[in-house]
Amino acid sequence: MQEGRLDPSAPLVLSTHELGRRPGSMRTYTATVPAPADLGIAVIGVPEGSDLHLDLRLEAVMEGVLVSGTVRATAVGECVRCLTEVTEEVTVEVQELFAYPGRTPAEVADEEDEVREVAAGELVDIEPAVRDAVVLELPFQPECGGVCQQDWEIGVSEQAPSPDRPADPRWSALEGLLAQQPDENPSGSREKS
Ligand SMILES: [Zn+2]
Repeated sequence: MQEGRLDPSAPLVLSTHELGRRPGSMRTYTATVPAPADLGIAVIGVPEGSDLHLDLRLEAVMEGVLVSGTVRATAVGECVRCLTEVTEEVTVEVQELFAYPGRTPAEVADEEDEVREVAAGELVDIEPAVRDAVVLELPFQPECGGVCQQDWEIGVSEQAPSPDRPADPRWSALEGLLAQQPDENPSGSREKS
């Protein structure tokens, strides 16, 4: 995959040509590109074609090109409890070293089974790095934070009080009023007429 020809027009394929392999040379890359397919997990993900905001820095280092920066997108999924649509703003940090072919530093090669390389045409494909970062950031159990959550909380507080679970203090004042009522109205004022 690293050795294969990349499509220079793909939204997440970047050219490193301007860096000219001069360590220290740097360029920024800010763009809004369409999200690739399958950018997410089963329950939530960034819809294909939706906006992916890239704010990146490409920097030539001795071994290759370091790409770092942030990627912003909006993920869409379903609440695990009520299946309401959930949208989540996702901002992730991306950092990936693309080694020049044959220049893979030994320590990197030892640590990772897959070392990404600068491909033919001085191109780098940041899609796998973006995907890894976004997937890590997404909630495994998206929650709408809405009505279904409130229902659940009310359900908990409505449980009958027991000796080891005293009544909700918010209710005790009301209970006091209810208990007083018969005394305040001993003869039954409703029978006035
Ligand atoms: Zn919900």
